[in-house]
Amino acid sequence: MNALFRRLAAACAVALACQGQTPRFISVGDVELPIVTHPEFYSDCRSAADSISSRELAFASIAFTFTGVPERSDPSKHFFTVAVDTQRSYIQIPTVTWPNMTQADTQHLAYLNQALEVHERGHLAIAVALADQVTAEHRAVQSADDARVQAAAFVRMDEERQVQYDNLVSHGIHQTRAPAALRGNDTIFYCK
Ligand SMILES: [Zn+2]
Repeated sequence: MNALFRRLAAACAVALACQGQTPRFISVGDVELPIVTHPEFYSDCRSAADSISSRELAFASIAFTFTGVPERSDPSKHFFTVAVDTQRSYIQIPTVTWPNMTQADTQHLAYLNQALEVHERGHLAIAVALADQVTAEHRAVQSADDARVQAAAFVRMDEERQVQYDNLVSHGIHQTRAPAALRGNDTIFYCK
């Protein structure tokens, strides 16, 4: 448990959020990212719902590590590899509250959070799949400059795929439109 708290503390330092919370994680294969959270206070359900529907409430902040800078002795042995940097990456999901919440409100928000987790896990799954794919291609790295160029190209490719995903599912509002592996409940929140 101590290691988990250390990971969470590291993620919180990056996110500048979340104090004294129980560590929770979202994982894809053996890549595990902490969920960090912070309170968001609203005056009532209506204003919370307006805010939730107008933006992507939760997000995945994913950093990568690259290896493949060649050594002069034998450049042919150095291949470009990419991995999600689990020490610098996190998923942020705020804790939404307003005064006098009913049990139904709390349940509805728990449902929303679960749907948000599925959507953000999709961002992580896309990043992991792309990193694995590029690594499996065994691209040789010719120089440190070449490694930087390949790293920049990879980041652009990842960004394009993440934007495509968000466009396809409207940031989770239509998560039911996602490919089967990423599909989940729509991140819709409304007041009864
Ligand atoms: Zn998204």
